[in-house]
Amino acid sequence: MTKSVGASEKILSKTTCPYCGVGCGVIVTRDQAGYKVRGNPDHPANLGRLCSKGAALAETLDDEGRMLHPQINGMQSNWDTAFELMARRFQRIITEHGRDSVAMYVSGQLLTEDYYVANKLMKGFIGTANIDTNSRLCMSSVVAAQKRAFGSDSVPCCYDDIDRTNLIVLVGSNTAWCHPVIFQRIRQAQKNNPNLDVVVIDPRKTASCDIASMHLAINSGADALLFNGLLKYLNDKGEVNKPFVDNCVEGVDAALNAAYDSSAEMLTLAKKCGLELDQLERFYALFARKEKVLTLYSQGINQSSSGTDKVNSIINCHLLSGRIGRPGMGAFSLTGQPNAMGGREVGGLANQLAAHMELENKEHRHLVQQHWQSPHIASKAGYKAVDLFEAILDDKVKALWIIGTNPAVSMPNNNRVKEALSHCEFLVVQDCMQNTDTADLAHVLLPASTWGERNGMVTNSERCISRQRAFREPPGEAMADWQIMSKFAQTIGHHDAFNYASSREIFNEYAALSGKENNGTRDFDISACANLDDKAYESFVPSQWPITFKNPVGTPRLFEDGHFFTPSGKAQMIPITPRAAVNPTSDKYPLILNTGRIRDQWHTMTRTGKSPTLSTHFSEAFVQLNPKDAQKYNILEGGLVSIRSIWGDVTVRAIMTQDIPVGMVFSPMHWNDQYASNALVDSVVNPACDPISGQPEFKHTPVSITPVKKAWYGFLLSRRQLNLSTQDYWNLNKGNGLWRYEIAGNETPKVWSDNARNLLCANEDNVSWMEYFDQSVQTYRAARLVGDKLESCIFISPNPRLPGRDWLMALFAKKSLSDKEKMFLLSGRSNDASEDAGANICACFGVGKNTIVKAIQEKHIDSVEDIGKALQAGTNCGSCIPELTALLKEAKKSVR
Ligand code: SF4
Repeated sequence: MTKSVGASEKILSKTTCPYCGVGCGVIVTRDQAGYKVRGNPDHPANLGRLCSKGAALAETLDDEGRMLHPQINGMQSNWDTAFELMARRFQRIITEHGRDSVAMYVSGQLLTEDYYVANKLMKGFIGTANIDTNSRLCMSSVVAAQKRAFGSDSVPCCYDDIDRTNLIVLVGSNTAWCHPVIFQRIRQAQKNNPNLDVVVIDPRKTASCDIASMHLAINSGADALLFNGLLKYLNDKGEVNKPFVDNCVEGVDAALNAAYDSSAEMLTLAKKCGLELDQLERFYALFARKEKVLTLYSQGINQSSSGTDKVNSIINCHLLSGRIGRPGMGAFSLTGQPNAMGGREVGGLANQLAAHMELENKEHRHLVQQHWQSPHIASKAGYKAVDLFEAILDDKVKALWIIGTNPAVSMPNNNRVKEALSHCEFLVVQDCMQNTDTADLAHVLLPASTWGERNGMVTNSERCISRQRAFREPPGEAMADWQIMSKFAQTIGHHDAFNYASSREIFNEYAALSGKENNGTRDFDISACANLDDKAYESFVPSQWPITFKNPVGTPRLFEDGHFFTPSGKAQMIPITPRAAVNPTSDKYPLILNTGRIRDQWHTMTRTGKSPTLSTHFSEAFVQLNPKDAQKYNILEGGLVSIRSIWGDVTVRAIMTQDIPVGMVFSPMHWNDQYASNALVDSVVNPACDPISGQPEFKHTPVSITPVKKAWYGFLLSRRQLNLSTQDYWNLNKGNGLWRYEIAGNETPKVWSDNARNLLCANEDNVSWMEYFDQSVQTYRAARLVGDKLESCIFISPNPRLPGRDWLMALFAKKSLSDKEKMFLLSGRSNDASEDAGANICACFGVGKNTIVKAIQEKHIDSVEDIGKALQAGTNCGSCIPELTALLKEAKKSVR
């Protein structure tokens, strides 16, 4: 549902969401109450829809925690001094150790123009390909696989295919949480087309299963086996598109031979995949029967030590059956970040040149160097992300410039990455936020502008290039990333090549490069944008590349003519031999750790962690596990547990669910040292990588799980942010007008009352203090009030079972507490059950679980639509619909 702009609101900007690769268009308005963000009905990516994260963007538009000035060794400095120091240090290191001793590590959050300047600076002017991006962690396997199959990193499909297909296969993708607006579009397509089936392939039963007619809970990592089996099945059943294969595909026999070698007969194959024979047969038959098949895949496929092969195993099936290049069909990679695609286009990976040209290709190198008029051009691939941090530890890379990313949180084997960052001779971090785990280790900090303050382009999952437009000034001395890099380049003597007056000038130069000596030989061509003037750049309409003079409105679907970008012009099927994960489970580490995103947080929480709305869905770092494993390893629901691997450990809260298969645990990637005492799950993740793409294996790390026993457990709610970093266990979370801390300790304090006052910084005279202590059960509770207004409260118990936080948190919204509220305050529960809304389910309208359950029971509601009518829940972004469906199912079960 798109909310319309109110009469008193002023439209500030039509821009795009800064989070995931769906690339939704948003409208930003402002009225007296502040900023508002809503979906743009005219943007083709979302047609007005938004998910919970996009809908809460306005809550993140403050300057709290922003980096405001350049800093050197922790002291405020200025731009000139910072650039001079950087120039001196980079030049000395290059003189002494060569060009490859310096590196950049950048981000899919950058805009295309920033990315282009970073690449030009490193590959053309500093003269090294040591620039890699955090997109290496989420989609480099797709890049490698598409280049093998198509001769180019080309996504064949478009979102419109969702509306035109008859079978959607979601594989390794919790689309409902990670690409929610795509999920909403699939849900709508299902309503419009009763013939549309959805199959989810995932070891976990995720929220995406809500719309699935079939869930294949395959064994972790069995994807290539499953798709090799499908390839064999299609061939056996005569489902080969012979005209297409004869004219447009090569490598068929080798790929089929490999598929037959790995597939065996169906029953054995089903067992190896962890499926029932019937399930396997039904899926294969469905794929064969429905010509219009769209396979949407994401990190569950890519983040594997055989991710490239897994992607090719999917593409093979589409090539053999000719399900590509036509409406409603194809293998469609969903990108993680807002501009991961743009980064690929400008050559953001260490093994690429700009505009989809190749480092190894002499003609391409010449062409790019000529265009840049640069003194150098890198001729060999630089370090990929994981190797880059190892190269720092080996003293091969001595200076690192990190831009717009937080590798101290997001890289696997994270303790070693932190060691590398600490070891680095000269570390520059350019970011919009002052306090990140990475920024904490930098010698030089450079303040960058962020979403809402910068101008440029991004490319989403369907190759659609859109504008991000500024609507507010950056705070302090923050500048656009391209400006910072250009000024540095000029400081080291490259004045003319980086003398850009605007991001538009950069985009024009880049667009011109894409068309240079192209003539249809390279997939990426946006040469029709090479002469945009300021007005045309400002009013740029979302368009899918290629955007050429012949086809200036863009190209929704690729390969419609059956021509590919390989030397022969034919697509390549790749023989795939399925491989197991690099590190198998063992007696000591018997469980598989699977990591990923949750619905309402984004990456390392630097932006979404600011939003109270987004902090309610999951407020604490956690691990999910199957109740059978919980029983086996003596884990209690809600207890603290240690997840440990060879590489590291975290302490998080245990959540039991049948949705996780026995033998696997799932923990989200978001929490870090800014939000918790020890919850950085990437410190546990193994560093194994795909040998072709260099993408790490985030979905499969052998771990153990053990209960963590503390002397006491508690929580603390406070209007003021507190420093609890000395506590044995702490987890911080932002609420509406308060900070929420979950805490636990190894030793019971001698006097709880004194300890509580210390924790709450509550030694002022003008406060009243309510306290309750039961020595027999060591339960302590206290609240601190100024007048009748609740300032803070603390609840402590020797076991983790404590009162719910929701009613107490709601009291912080009140200017004064009533006598009755004060009376019940230390019980932690309202005397009126209806006042306790329960855990937040609908982020958009703040509707809690208890409220929904009560409405279902009392109003005899039996559909999500009726929950929406009664409570509004699920009627805005729709991200909570799978959870509403689950609550309805639970309610039905309890009635029976
Ligand atoms: S799906 Fe959500 S996070 Fe992704 S771009 Fe759209 S609004 Fe942003």
